[in-house]
Amino acid sequence: MSQPVFAELAGQDAVVEQLSRAAAAASALLSGDRPAGGDSQGGPGGWNPPGDQNSRPPGPAQPGAMTHAWLFTGPPGSGRSVAARAFAAALLCPAGGCGQCASCRQVRAGTHADLLLVRPEGLSYGVKQTRDLVLRAAGAPTGGRWQVVVFEDADRCTEQAANALLKAIEEPTPRTVWLLCAPSAEDLVPTIRSRCRVVTLVVPASAAVAKVLMTRDGVEPAAALAAARAAQGHVGRARRLALDASAAARRADVLRVPLAAVSLGPALSAAASLVRTAEDEAKAVTEELDEPERESLRRAFGEGSTGKGVAKAMRGMAGALKDLEDRQKSRATRVKRDTLDQALLDLAVFYRDVLILQLGADVELANGDREPDLRGVAASSTPEATLRRLQAIMHCRERLSLNVAPLLAVEDMTLSLVEG
Ligand SMILES: [Zn+2]
Repeated sequence: MSQPVFAELAGQDAVVEQLSRAAAAASALLSGDRPAGGDSQGGPGGWNPPGDQNSRPPGPAQPGAMTHAWLFTGPPGSGRSVAARAFAAALLCPAGGCGQCASCRQVRAGTHADLLLVRPEGLSYGVKQTRDLVLRAAGAPTGGRWQVVVFEDADRCTEQAANALLKAIEEPTPRTVWLLCAPSAEDLVPTIRSRCRVVTLVVPASAAVAKVLMTRDGVEPAAALAAARAAQGHVGRARRLALDASAAARRADVLRVPLAAVSLGPALSAAASLVRTAEDEAKAVTEELDEPERESLRRAFGEGSTGKGVAKAMRGMAGALKDLEDRQKSRATRVKRDTLDQALLDLAVFYRDVLILQLGADVELANGDREPDLRGVAASSTPEATLRRLQAIMHCRERLSLNVAPLLAVEDMTLSLVEG
Protein backbone atom coordinates (compact mmCIF):
# COMPACT_ATOMS: atom_id res chain seq x y z
CA MET A 1 0.00 0.00 0.00
CA SER A 2 1.63 3.22 -1.10
CA GLN A 3 1.39 6.59 0.58
CA PRO A 4 -1.61 8.79 -0.37
CA VAL A 5 0.62 11.45 -1.97
CA PHE A 6 1.48 9.00 -4.73
CA ALA A 7 -2.18 8.32 -5.61
CA GLU A 8 -2.08 10.74 -8.55
CA LEU A 9 0.66 8.84 -10.34
CA ALA A 10 -1.52 6.95 -12.76
CA GLY A 11 -0.10 3.66 -14.02
CA GLN A 12 3.39 4.26 -12.58
CA ASP A 13 3.65 1.37 -10.12
CA ALA A 14 7.41 0.82 -10.43
CA VAL A 15 8.11 4.51 -9.87
CA VAL A 16 5.81 4.65 -6.85
CA GLU A 17 7.63 1.67 -5.36
CA GLN A 18 11.05 3.26 -5.97
CA LEU A 19 10.06 6.63 -4.50
CA SER A 20 8.25 5.13 -1.51
CA ARG A 21 11.35 3.21 -0.52
CA ALA A 22 13.59 6.23 -1.00
CA ALA A 23 11.27 8.37 1.12
CA ALA A 24 11.34 5.76 3.87
CA ALA A 25 15.15 5.65 3.68
CA ALA A 26 15.22 9.46 3.86
CA SER A 27 13.03 9.40 6.95
CA ALA A 28 15.28 6.79 8.56
CA LEU A 29 18.25 9.07 7.86
CA LEU A 30 16.61 11.93 9.71
CA SER A 31 15.83 9.81 12.72
CA GLY A 32 19.32 8.33 12.68
CA ASP A 33 18.25 4.75 12.04
CA ARG A 34 20.27 2.63 9.68
CA PRO A 35 18.04 0.54 7.51
CA ALA A 36 19.31 -2.94 6.74
CA GLY A 37 21.66 -3.07 3.79
CA GLY A 38 22.51 0.62 4.09
CA ASP A 39 25.79 2.27 3.40
CA SER A 40 28.45 1.50 6.00
CA GLN A 41 31.27 3.78 4.82
CA GLY A 42 30.36 7.00 3.10
CA GLY A 43 27.81 8.51 5.45
CA PRO A 44 24.69 7.67 7.34
CA GLY A 45 22.62 4.61 6.54
CA GLY A 46 20.54 4.61 3.39
CA TRP A 47 22.45 7.50 1.87
CA ASN A 48 23.68 6.24 -1.41
CA PRO A 49 25.08 8.78 -3.82
CA PRO A 50 25.26 7.71 -7.46
CA GLY A 51 27.87 8.90 -9.89
CA ASP A 52 31.57 8.63 -10.33
CA GLN A 53 32.84 10.16 -7.11
CA ASN A 54 35.19 7.25 -6.38
CA SER A 55 32.37 5.47 -4.65
CA ARG A 56 32.28 1.72 -4.43
CA PRO A 57 30.06 -0.16 -6.90
CA PRO A 58 26.35 0.19 -6.31
CA GLY A 59 25.11 -2.22 -3.70
CA PRO A 60 21.78 -4.05 -3.67
CA ALA A 61 20.33 -1.34 -1.43
CA GLN A 62 20.77 1.34 -4.07
CA PRO A 63 17.44 1.41 -5.89
CA GLY A 64 15.53 2.23 -2.72
CA ALA A 65 18.19 4.34 -1.07
CA MET A 66 18.16 8.09 -0.69
CA THR A 67 20.33 10.46 -2.65
CA HIS A 68 20.53 14.22 -3.09
CA ALA A 69 19.98 14.50 -6.85
CA TRP A 70 17.19 12.89 -8.83
CA LEU A 71 16.24 13.10 -12.45
CA PHE A 72 12.59 12.47 -13.38
CA THR A 73 12.25 11.53 -17.03
CA GLY A 74 9.36 10.50 -19.23
CA PRO A 75 7.39 11.71 -22.23
CA PRO A 76 5.37 14.94 -21.92
CA GLY A 77 2.35 14.44 -19.72
CA SER A 78 3.53 11.22 -18.12
CA GLY A 79 3.66 13.19 -14.90
CA ARG A 80 7.32 14.06 -14.34
CA SER A 81 6.58 17.10 -12.24
CA VAL A 82 3.61 15.41 -10.57
CA ALA A 83 5.95 12.60 -9.51
CA ALA A 84 8.61 15.05 -8.36
CA ARG A 85 6.07 16.97 -6.29
CA ALA A 86 4.67 13.79 -4.77
CA PHE A 87 8.18 12.75 -3.80
CA ALA A 88 8.79 16.21 -2.35
CA ALA A 89 5.61 15.83 -0.28
CA ALA A 90 6.74 12.41 0.93
CA LEU A 91 10.15 13.79 1.94
CA LEU A 92 8.71 16.80 3.76
CA CYS A 93 5.79 15.07 5.51
CA PRO A 94 6.53 13.77 9.02
CA ALA A 95 4.37 10.75 8.17
CA GLY A 96 6.05 10.06 4.83
CA GLY A 97 3.34 11.54 2.59
CA CYS A 98 -0.03 11.27 4.34
CA GLY A 99 -1.64 13.78 1.98
CA GLN A 100 -3.58 15.35 4.86
CA CYS A 101 -1.22 17.23 7.17
CA ALA A 102 -0.26 20.90 6.90
CA SER A 103 3.00 20.01 5.20
CA CYS A 104 1.32 17.89 2.52
CA ARG A 105 -1.28 20.58 1.89
CA GLN A 106 1.40 23.26 1.56
CA VAL A 107 3.33 21.16 -0.94
CA ARG A 108 0.16 20.73 -2.98
CA ALA A 109 -0.50 24.48 -2.91
CA GLY A 110 3.14 25.21 -3.74
CA THR A 111 3.56 27.28 -0.56
CA HIS A 112 5.78 25.03 1.58
CA ALA A 113 8.71 26.99 2.98
CA ASP A 114 11.18 24.19 2.26
CA LEU A 115 10.04 23.57 -1.29
CA LEU A 116 11.34 25.56 -4.24
CA LEU A 117 9.32 24.99 -7.41
CA VAL A 118 11.12 26.43 -10.40
CA ARG A 119 10.51 26.70 -14.10
CA PRO A 120 12.51 28.63 -16.68
CA GLU A 121 11.52 32.30 -16.61
CA GLY A 122 11.71 32.63 -20.37
CA LEU A 123 12.60 30.12 -23.02
CA SER A 124 15.48 28.78 -20.92
CA TYR A 125 17.11 28.95 -17.48
CA GLY A 126 19.56 31.83 -17.41
CA VAL A 127 22.70 31.81 -15.33
CA LYS A 128 21.41 34.48 -12.95
CA GLN A 129 18.15 32.69 -12.20
CA THR A 130 20.06 29.46 -11.59
CA ARG A 131 22.73 31.02 -9.37
CA ASP A 132 20.06 32.73 -7.25
CA LEU A 133 18.31 29.42 -6.94
CA VAL A 134 21.46 27.54 -5.94
CA LEU A 135 22.00 30.08 -3.16
CA ARG A 136 18.47 29.75 -1.87
CA ALA A 137 18.58 25.97 -2.09
CA ALA A 138 21.65 25.87 0.14
CA GLY A 139 19.69 27.22 3.11
CA ALA A 140 18.79 24.99 6.03
CA PRO A 141 15.23 23.61 5.92
CA THR A 142 12.94 25.54 8.27
CA GLY A 143 10.89 22.43 8.98
CA GLY A 144 13.95 20.46 10.04
CA ARG A 145 13.61 17.83 7.30
CA TRP A 146 14.80 18.60 3.77
CA GLN A 147 15.16 21.55 1.46
CA VAL A 148 13.64 20.29 -1.78
CA VAL A 149 14.02 21.89 -5.21
CA VAL A 150 11.72 20.77 -8.03
CA PHE A 151 13.55 21.95 -11.16
CA GLU A 152 11.21 21.57 -14.13
CA ASP A 153 12.37 21.52 -17.75
CA ALA A 154 15.98 20.96 -16.70
CA ASP A 155 16.76 20.41 -20.38
CA ARG A 156 16.19 24.13 -20.91
CA CYS A 157 19.38 25.22 -19.12
CA THR A 158 21.83 27.46 -20.91
CA GLU A 159 25.40 26.17 -20.75
CA GLN A 160 26.30 28.58 -17.97
CA ALA A 161 23.17 27.72 -16.03
CA ALA A 162 24.01 24.02 -16.33
CA ASN A 163 27.46 24.74 -14.89
CA ALA A 164 25.95 26.54 -11.91
CA LEU A 165 23.57 23.64 -11.38
CA LEU A 166 26.36 21.09 -11.71
CA LYS A 167 28.35 22.81 -9.01
CA ALA A 168 25.41 22.64 -6.63
CA ILE A 169 24.91 18.96 -7.30
CA GLU A 170 28.63 18.13 -7.10
CA GLU A 171 29.02 19.75 -3.72
CA PRO A 172 25.62 19.18 -2.16
CA THR A 173 24.54 20.76 1.09
CA PRO A 174 23.62 17.91 3.43
CA ARG A 175 19.88 18.54 3.58
CA THR A 176 19.22 19.75 0.04
CA VAL A 177 17.51 17.43 -2.45
CA TRP A 178 17.37 18.34 -6.15
CA LEU A 179 14.55 16.90 -8.23
CA LEU A 180 15.25 17.64 -11.89
CA CYS A 181 12.65 16.96 -14.58
CA ALA A 182 13.42 16.43 -18.28
CA PRO A 183 11.98 14.43 -21.19
CA SER A 184 14.90 12.01 -21.19
CA ALA A 185 18.26 11.57 -19.47
CA GLU A 186 20.00 12.30 -22.79
CA ASP A 187 18.62 15.84 -22.66
CA LEU A 188 21.06 16.71 -19.89
CA VAL A 189 24.82 17.06 -20.07
CA PRO A 190 26.53 13.83 -18.97
CA THR A 191 28.20 15.51 -16.00
CA ILE A 192 24.81 16.32 -14.44
CA ARG A 193 23.13 13.13 -15.58
CA SER A 194 25.78 10.89 -14.01
CA ARG A 195 25.22 12.50 -10.61
CA CYS A 196 21.47 11.95 -10.59
CA ARG A 197 19.44 8.87 -9.83
CA VAL A 198 17.06 8.48 -12.75
CA VAL A 199 13.33 7.91 -12.26
CA THR A 200 11.73 6.76 -15.50
CA LEU A 201 8.03 7.38 -15.99
CA VAL A 202 6.12 5.52 -18.67
CA VAL A 203 3.12 6.58 -20.76
CA PRO A 204 0.25 5.42 -18.54
CA ALA A 205 -2.50 3.25 -19.98
CA SER A 206 -5.79 5.02 -20.77
CA ALA A 207 -7.58 2.95 -18.14
CA ALA A 208 -5.16 4.10 -15.41
CA VAL A 209 -5.60 7.76 -16.41
CA ALA A 210 -9.38 7.35 -16.52
CA LYS A 211 -9.33 5.88 -13.04
CA VAL A 212 -7.58 8.96 -11.67
CA LEU A 213 -10.17 11.22 -13.34
CA MET A 214 -13.00 9.18 -11.85
CA THR A 215 -11.67 8.84 -8.31
CA ARG A 216 -10.07 12.23 -7.94
CA ASP A 217 -12.22 14.48 -10.07
CA GLY A 218 -15.51 12.60 -10.02
CA VAL A 219 -15.73 12.36 -13.83
CA GLU A 220 -18.26 9.85 -15.24
CA PRO A 221 -16.58 6.60 -16.40
CA ALA A 222 -17.41 6.98 -20.12
CA ALA A 223 -16.32 10.62 -20.27
CA ALA A 224 -13.18 9.82 -18.26
CA LEU A 225 -12.17 7.07 -20.66
CA ALA A 226 -12.83 9.21 -23.75
CA ALA A 227 -10.74 12.07 -22.32
CA ALA A 228 -7.96 9.68 -21.29
CA ARG A 229 -7.81 8.19 -24.78
CA ALA A 230 -7.90 11.56 -26.50
CA ALA A 231 -5.07 12.80 -24.29
CA GLN A 232 -2.92 9.76 -25.12
CA GLY A 233 -1.71 9.15 -21.58
CA HIS A 234 -1.22 12.82 -20.73
CA VAL A 235 -2.87 13.04 -17.32
CA GLY A 236 -3.09 16.83 -17.03
CA ARG A 237 -4.48 17.19 -20.51
CA ALA A 238 -7.01 14.42 -19.95
CA ARG A 239 -8.20 16.29 -16.88
CA ARG A 240 -8.52 19.55 -18.80
CA LEU A 241 -10.44 17.84 -21.61
CA ALA A 242 -12.81 16.26 -19.12
CA LEU A 243 -13.37 19.30 -16.91
CA ASP A 244 -12.74 22.39 -19.01
CA ALA A 245 -15.35 22.97 -21.70
CA SER A 246 -13.15 25.46 -23.56
CA ALA A 247 -10.28 22.94 -23.80
CA ALA A 248 -12.70 20.42 -25.28
CA ALA A 249 -13.96 23.05 -27.72
CA ARG A 250 -10.40 23.85 -28.82
CA ARG A 251 -9.72 20.18 -29.47
CA ALA A 252 -12.88 20.08 -31.58
CA ASP A 253 -11.52 23.05 -33.58
CA VAL A 254 -8.28 21.22 -34.26
CA LEU A 255 -10.06 18.06 -35.36
CA ARG A 256 -12.06 20.05 -37.91
CA VAL A 257 -8.86 20.65 -39.89
CA PRO A 258 -8.66 17.17 -41.47
CA LEU A 259 -12.29 17.46 -42.58
CA ALA A 260 -11.64 20.89 -44.10
CA ALA A 261 -8.52 19.62 -45.86
CA VAL A 262 -10.41 18.64 -48.98
CA SER A 263 -10.21 21.98 -50.76
CA LEU A 264 -7.97 24.97 -50.45
CA GLY A 265 -10.31 27.71 -49.24
CA PRO A 266 -11.78 25.93 -46.21
CA ALA A 267 -8.38 24.39 -45.40
CA LEU A 268 -6.62 27.75 -45.23
CA SER A 269 -9.32 29.23 -43.08
CA ALA A 270 -9.09 26.20 -40.78
CA ALA A 271 -5.32 26.76 -40.59
CA ALA A 272 -5.78 30.40 -39.66
CA SER A 273 -8.26 29.49 -36.97
CA LEU A 274 -5.87 26.85 -35.62
CA VAL A 275 -3.18 29.49 -35.11
CA ARG A 276 -5.66 32.00 -33.68
CA THR A 277 -7.04 29.42 -31.24
CA ALA A 278 -3.54 28.62 -29.99
CA GLU A 279 -2.83 32.33 -29.58
CA ASP A 280 -6.07 32.90 -27.66
CA GLU A 281 -5.38 29.98 -25.38
CA ALA A 282 -1.82 31.16 -24.72
CA LYS A 283 -3.11 34.67 -24.06
CA ALA A 284 -5.62 33.40 -21.53
CA VAL A 285 -2.91 31.42 -19.74
CA THR A 286 -0.34 34.21 -19.62
CA GLU A 287 -2.75 37.03 -18.73
CA GLU A 288 -3.81 35.08 -15.69
CA LEU A 289 -0.16 35.07 -14.55
CA ASP A 290 1.03 38.49 -15.73
CA GLU A 291 -1.12 40.90 -13.73
CA PRO A 292 -0.60 39.29 -10.28
CA GLU A 293 3.16 39.34 -10.94
CA ARG A 294 3.11 43.04 -11.82
CA GLU A 295 0.94 43.72 -8.79
CA SER A 296 3.25 41.97 -6.35
CA LEU A 297 6.26 43.76 -7.82
CA ARG A 298 4.54 47.11 -7.30
CA ARG A 299 3.72 46.17 -3.73
CA ALA A 300 7.31 45.07 -3.12
CA PHE A 301 8.48 48.55 -4.17
CA GLY A 302 5.87 50.18 -1.94
CA GLU A 303 4.01 51.96 -4.72
CA GLY A 304 1.68 54.61 -3.41
CA SER A 305 3.76 55.33 -0.33
CA THR A 306 5.28 58.75 0.29
CA GLY A 307 8.35 60.09 2.00
CA LYS A 308 12.07 60.08 1.56
CA GLY A 309 13.55 57.67 -0.93
CA VAL A 310 10.26 57.16 -2.74
CA ALA A 311 11.48 58.77 -5.96
CA LYS A 312 14.55 56.56 -5.93
CA ALA A 313 12.51 53.44 -5.25
CA MET A 314 10.20 54.37 -8.14
CA ARG A 315 13.15 54.56 -10.51
CA GLY A 316 14.25 51.13 -9.31
CA MET A 317 10.76 49.85 -9.86
CA ALA A 318 10.69 51.06 -13.46
CA GLY A 319 13.79 48.97 -14.17
CA ALA A 320 12.44 45.90 -12.40
CA LEU A 321 9.10 46.29 -14.16
CA LYS A 322 10.85 46.39 -17.53
CA ASP A 323 12.76 43.22 -16.56
CA LEU A 324 9.54 41.52 -15.54
CA GLU A 325 7.81 42.53 -18.78
CA ASP A 326 10.67 41.11 -20.83
CA ARG A 327 10.40 37.81 -18.99
CA GLN A 328 6.64 37.77 -19.37
CA LYS A 329 7.00 38.39 -23.08
CA SER A 330 9.34 35.48 -23.58
CA ARG A 331 7.11 33.29 -21.44
CA ALA A 332 4.17 34.24 -23.68
CA THR A 333 6.22 33.17 -26.70
CA ARG A 334 6.98 29.84 -25.08
CA VAL A 335 3.34 29.20 -24.07
CA LYS A 336 2.14 30.13 -27.55
CA ARG A 337 4.61 27.75 -29.15
CA ASP A 338 3.78 24.91 -26.74
CA THR A 339 0.05 25.41 -27.26
CA LEU A 340 0.31 25.31 -31.03
CA ASP A 341 2.55 22.27 -30.76
CA GLN A 342 -0.12 20.55 -28.68
CA ALA A 343 -2.70 21.30 -31.38
CA LEU A 344 -0.39 19.81 -34.02
CA LEU A 345 0.07 16.72 -31.89
CA ASP A 346 -3.70 16.33 -31.65
CA LEU A 347 -3.84 16.60 -35.41
CA ALA A 348 -1.09 13.98 -35.81
CA VAL A 349 -2.94 11.63 -33.49
CA PHE A 350 -6.05 12.02 -35.66
CA TYR A 351 -4.11 10.86 -38.73
CA ARG A 352 -2.51 8.09 -36.69
CA ASP A 353 -6.05 6.85 -36.01
CA VAL A 354 -6.86 7.15 -39.72
CA LEU A 355 -3.83 5.02 -40.52
CA ILE A 356 -4.89 2.41 -37.95
CA LEU A 357 -8.26 2.12 -39.69
CA GLN A 358 -6.70 2.02 -43.15
CA LEU A 359 -4.34 -0.78 -42.12
CA GLY A 360 -7.00 -2.59 -40.12
CA ALA A 361 -4.64 -2.69 -37.13
CA ASP A 362 -5.97 -3.93 -33.83
CA VAL A 363 -5.00 -0.85 -31.80
CA GLU A 364 -7.16 1.34 -29.58
CA LEU A 365 -8.27 4.55 -31.31
CA ALA A 366 -7.33 7.75 -29.50
CA ASN A 367 -10.24 9.59 -31.08
CA GLY A 368 -12.82 6.85 -30.67
CA ASP A 369 -15.41 9.58 -30.07
CA ARG A 370 -14.80 10.75 -33.68
CA GLU A 371 -15.02 7.43 -35.39
CA PRO A 372 -17.34 8.52 -38.25
CA ASP A 373 -14.94 11.38 -39.13
CA LEU A 374 -11.97 9.03 -38.98
CA ARG A 375 -13.69 6.50 -41.22
CA GLY A 376 -14.62 9.19 -43.72
CA VAL A 377 -11.01 10.37 -44.08
CA ALA A 378 -9.72 6.80 -44.11
CA ALA A 379 -12.05 5.79 -46.94
CA SER A 380 -11.20 8.81 -49.07
CA SER A 381 -7.40 8.41 -49.00
CA THR A 382 -4.59 5.85 -48.93
CA PRO A 383 -2.17 4.82 -46.17
CA GLU A 384 0.64 6.42 -48.22
CA ALA A 385 -1.20 9.73 -48.29
CA THR A 386 -1.81 9.49 -44.53
CA LEU A 387 1.90 8.95 -43.93
CA ARG A 388 2.73 11.97 -46.08
CA ARG A 389 0.26 14.03 -44.08
CA LEU A 390 1.80 12.88 -40.81
CA GLN A 391 5.19 13.86 -42.18
CA ALA A 392 3.88 17.30 -43.11
CA ILE A 393 2.64 17.80 -39.54
CA MET A 394 5.97 16.73 -38.02
CA HIS A 395 7.82 18.98 -40.46
CA CYS A 396 5.62 21.88 -39.39
CA ARG A 397 6.43 21.24 -35.72
CA GLU A 398 10.11 21.27 -36.59
CA ARG A 399 9.83 24.57 -38.43
CA LEU A 400 7.96 26.13 -35.51
CA SER A 401 10.74 25.07 -33.15
CA LEU A 402 13.10 26.93 -35.50
CA ASN A 403 10.99 30.08 -35.09
CA VAL A 404 9.35 30.15 -38.51
CA ALA A 405 6.29 32.43 -38.37
CA PRO A 406 3.43 30.22 -37.08
CA LEU A 407 0.83 31.17 -39.69
CA LEU A 408 3.28 30.58 -42.54
CA ALA A 409 4.35 27.16 -41.24
CA VAL A 410 0.79 26.06 -40.55
CA GLU A 411 -0.44 27.24 -43.98
CA ASP A 412 2.33 25.31 -45.72
CA MET A 413 1.38 22.24 -43.73
CA THR A 414 -2.26 22.70 -44.66
CA LEU A 415 -1.40 22.79 -48.35
CA SER A 416 0.35 19.44 -47.91
CA LEU A 417 -2.69 18.06 -46.07
CA VAL A 418 -4.93 19.09 -48.97
CA GLU A 419 -2.57 17.52 -51.52
CA GLY A 420 -2.55 14.32 -49.52
ZN1 LIG B 1 1.59 14.64 5.38
